[in-house]
Amino acid sequence: MSQFATLRDIRDAVQSGARSAVDVCTEALARIEAHDGTLNAFNTVTRDQALAQAAAVDAHPNRASLPLAGVPVALKDNLCTLGVRTTASSKILEHFVPPYDATTVAKLVAAGAVAVGKTNCDEFAMGSSNENSAFGPARNPWATDRIPGGSSGGSAVAVAAGMTPLSLGSDTGGSIRQPAALCGLVGLKPTYGRVSRYGLLAFASSLDQIGPFTRTVEDAALALQVLAGHDPADATSAPEPVPDYAAALTGHAKGLRIGVPRALVSDGVDAAVSKAFNEALDAYREAGATLVDIELPYASAAIPVYYLVATAEASSNLARYDGVRYGFRAPAEGGPGTQDDLRAMYGRSRELGFGHEVKRRIMLGTYVLSAGYYDAYYLKAQRVRTLIRRDYEHAFEQVDVVAMPTSPTPAFKIGERTSDPLQMYLADIFTVSANLAGLPAISLPCGFTADSLPIGLQLTGRMFDETTLLSAAHAYERQTAWWKAQPTL
Ligand code: GLN
Repeated sequence: MSQFATLRDIRDAVQSGARSAVDVCTEALARIEAHDGTLNAFNTVTRDQALAQAAAVDAHPNRASLPLAGVPVALKDNLCTLGVRTTASSKILEHFVPPYDATTVAKLVAAGAVAVGKTNCDEFAMGSSNENSAFGPARNPWATDRIPGGSSGGSAVAVAAGMTPLSLGSDTGGSIRQPAALCGLVGLKPTYGRVSRYGLLAFASSLDQIGPFTRTVEDAALALQVLAGHDPADATSAPEPVPDYAAALTGHAKGLRIGVPRALVSDGVDAAVSKAFNEALDAYREAGATLVDIELPYASAAIPVYYLVATAEASSNLARYDGVRYGFRAPAEGGPGTQDDLRAMYGRSRELGFGHEVKRRIMLGTYVLSAGYYDAYYLKAQRVRTLIRRDYEHAFEQVDVVAMPTSPTPAFKIGERTSDPLQMYLADIFTVSANLAGLPAISLPCGFTADSLPIGLQLTGRMFDETTLLSAAHAYERQTAWWKAQPTL
């Protein structure tokens, strides 16, 4: 079985007994060992625990009943794991060992998946390139001098490099879809509330969702099946029933209505990305879908709205990292034998514990929430957020899904944008509005640039209608071979 076997292939082989979970796990660990020195996808590899989980799958009296039997999975390092260091790629959590598992982690393991480690990401999931990590950048397997995207960069790299067929990321403004696009993968951000966020280190609580990276749309459906559903431990998780996602994958696009916000996607998009996007639309048309020109008039305001709302929520969520809890405290300013007073201790711990981008966001968020500016910035952003959601509601009266490129450019070079935060924020231009509106969205491979960098197509669906979204994505994927291409390492 190739390193690039799908989740489905591995699951079937382990369920039937054709392969043992321990063998599959040993291969995944060997692959990580061989390539992680270069790619830096993992902050922590949980070798012993993984082998023990795999052995438990092999010893399970009814392996065939485990929907993810023996499937190696890599977990973004902002998902709490019982007894396993969880850092969010921040120095302030460098030694934090959670006393519980995130619900998503517990569900995967209960379904027979084998957790091989914690993946590198932008610090507290703030970034689009994985360069804001206290543990160094992760590298794109398609071109190791380039970023894999972010913030869930390591999770994308793990799957793209054939280390695991599945990984989990979190998506607040594009952090699953954008790295999926830049690494040639399928990345799914479910509807807000579809998947429990219990145990996810919060960035912006009204936007955060957890979702899978996979090689195929079917694999994304199989993973979502396990992840979705109400969780009493997360009050924002939805009671909506969970349909059979894989059963809806018919491979047909006939009758599908696809909205294309032409004005939005005509500006500032790399030529190769534009070309691949238009060819994907042609392929849909040939497969019997109808393309409908739509307008999302307020989507052009999505970036400023997102960077006001997300930073406001982040400044509040990150107030808990104070040097008292979670493991990191700055040494006293006067050196050994001296003590800072309480305020100085908080201040120094945050000064030394957080990286630049996180500090920038805390300051911006604190500013927009402060008494004199709340109405002008935060409240106004919330109002425009409502208008963005209405734009989509209006569009979904005419269409079933909305298509856009996932990212305006392919993977850029490491270091290329680090000195220009605004340039970096623009990477999210097509992804943030789905989070602001709470809608499910998926990125899937739709081509390559002349120098073999992957390009992603993004589809956005109706609230809780992952079924139509996955089925639309699957219909395209089945007509194309992009997803079969693999990087050479
Ligand atoms: N790139 C966006 C940001 O920096 C989105 C991050 C995310 O989705 N976690 O905030």
